[in-house]
Amino acid sequence: MAGEPQTDCLFCKIVSGDIPATIVRESATTVAFRDINPQAPTHVLVIPKVHYPDAASLAAAEPQIAADVLTEAGAVAADEKIDSTGYRTIFNTGSGAGQTVFHAHAHVLGGRGLQWPPG
Ligand code: 5GP
Ligand code: ZN
Repeated sequence: MAGEPQTDCLFCKIVSGDIPATIVRESATTVAFRDINPQAPTHVLVIPKVHYPDAASLAAAEPQIAADVLTEAGAVAADEKIDSTGYRTIFNTGSGAGQTVFHAHAHVLGGRGLQWPPG
C-alpha cells in the first residue's frame, strides 16, 4: 500500500529504529537526523515517517505531511541557529540530480556560505 514501510529502504529502517541515527527532532509524522556524510557544518535530513520515493510523490499523496517536512526543516534551522545566517532546503529527485536514497527527504544545509547557483 502507498506509504507503507519498505523492507529494503534505509530511511524506513531509521524510522523504525532498526538502523541508528543521530535524531535531532521528531514529530508525529517526521524524523530529522544528522547526515552521515555532512556537506556543511549543519547538514540534517528531514524525512516523513511514511515511505514515498521522492518529494513530489509525497506531496501528491500526503500534502499535509509534505508541509510538515518543510515546517520541520524550518524548525531544524532555528534549533541549529542557521535561520539568521541563511540555509538551504534541498530535495534531490532522481539519480541524475544526486538522489541516492529513494525515500523522500529534505536536506537542511547551513553554517557556511552557500554558492548560488548550486553545482
Ligand atoms: P540523496 O543523495 O538521496 O539526496 O541523500 C541521501 C543522503 O543520505 C546522503 O547525503 C547520505 O550522506 C545520507 N545517508 C546515507 N546513508 C545514511 C545513513 O545510514 N545514515 C545517515 N544519517 N545518513 C545517511
Ligand atoms: Zn522508506
